[in-house]
Amino acid sequence: MTLAFEPSTLTCAVCGDGIDSGYLPVTGTDGGDEPLTDAAACDACGFTAVGMGGCAPELDDLTDDPAADALCHVRFTGDGVEVLRRK
Ligand SMILES: [Zn+2]
Repeated sequence: MTLAFEPSTLTCAVCGDGIDSGYLPVTGTDGGDEPLTDAAACDACGFTAVGMGGCAPELDDLTDDPAADALCHVRFTGDGVEVLRRK
């Protein structure tokens, strides 16, 4: 569960705010998971605007990019991006 590169910031595609913790679609590659940063969503939007009825969003909810393989729940720490969950 490593990212091919760690974005220094992410912006929510729904509300436009910076993301501290949220959902990030990725494309699996030999070098790791490549973040699809354009389709990221913050936690709040992931649950209310994207996911159905207070559930965590599915990959399809965030992007219809055929390159997207998985959805990561990520959190920015002082050191970089931590992947909490990948599905
Ligand atoms: Zn948002």
